[in-house]
Parts: sequence; C-alpha cells; structure tokens
Amino acid sequence: MSTFVYMTRCDGCGHCVDICPSDIMHIDETIRRAKNIEPNFCWECYSCVKACPNHAIDVRGYADFAPMGHSVRVRREEEKGTISWKIKFRNVLIFIYYILISFFILFN
Ligand code: SF4
Ligand code: SF4
Repeated sequence: MSTFVYMTRCDGCGHCVDICPSDIMHIDETIRRAKNIEPNFCWECYSCVKACPNHAIDVRGYADFAPMGHSVRVRREEEKGTISWKIKFRNVLIFIYYILISFFILFN
C-alpha cells in the first residue's frame, strides 16, 4: 500500500522528506506541501506516516487485494505516545492496533 498526502493537513515541515529511504517524498515548491512523487517505488515502510506530526499521510490499498469499501488509517498521537492502525473491512468489521512510539524508536 503506497502513501499519499492530504494537502489540507500538511504544513510542509519536511519530516517525511528527511526520513523516506526511497527519496520519493518531496515538497512541491509551488504549494509548499509534501507529495509522494513515485508511489510505485514506495518501500511501504511507513516511516513517513509515523513521522508526520499532522496525520497528513495515509496509505492506499491496491485494488487487486483491497477492493472498494475498505479503509486504513494510521495515526501518530504524541500525547498518548502511540501509533495506531485502524483497519475497516468491507463488512464494516474494524480492527485497531496500537504500538508505543518508544517501542518503535527502540527497534529502528
Ligand atoms: S511530515 Fe506531514 S506535515 Fe510534514 S511535510 Fe510531510 S506530510 Fe507534510
Ligand atoms: S512508506 Fe517509506 S518508502 Fe514509502 S513514501 Fe513513506 S517513507 Fe518513503
């Protein structure tokens, strides 16, 4: 699942640009917002998603295994010290997974 940026949430801080190992997160010079310039080269590491302070980056499932009706949200919540993944299936079943940011830092 490659990433994309919600332009209205992005403030152009550049954290995603600095952390992307594939060098595909860039700041658009005209609108000063980040964008994934080459989704096909995304490693799907989600470092950018976890690093974004504004919840501006999300992931999009490929149509062959994630058909219409599903959604995946990733949120970094500094105040709680967590990163959460909320997965909604087509039958409206919802799973939410949490990981502590301190655990993430320890193993990266
Ligand atoms: S880390 Fe988030 S807010 Fe900062 S430039 Fe990237 S998408 Fe925008
Ligand atoms: S998921 Fe990883 S490789 Fe893909 S844009 Fe984000 S940081 Fe770069």
